[in-house]
Amino acid sequence: MIGADGPATQRCSRAGCGTEAVFAVHWRNPRIHGEDRVKTWLACDEHVGFLSDYLASRDFPVTVTPVGEAVERV
Ligand SMILES: [Zn+2]
Repeated sequence: MIGADGPATQRCSRAGCGTEAVFAVHWRNPRIHGEDRVKTWLACDEHVGFLSDYLASRDFPVTVTPVGEAVERV
């Protein structure tokens, strides 16, 4: 469904950051998520490294794309 107000601005997922997101960080926790499950965080230019490093340090598979791009698997 398309909203009358147009797309809302997408904001960075980092706590306390309200900056417009330009990246999407797709990830999965292999311990609780199946292979076809993908979680997505949004990230601004400043926090994309923080968020992807945080996930990678937990041995989660991570894929970073421009915001709005979907991935089927990570
Ligand atoms: Zn941010």
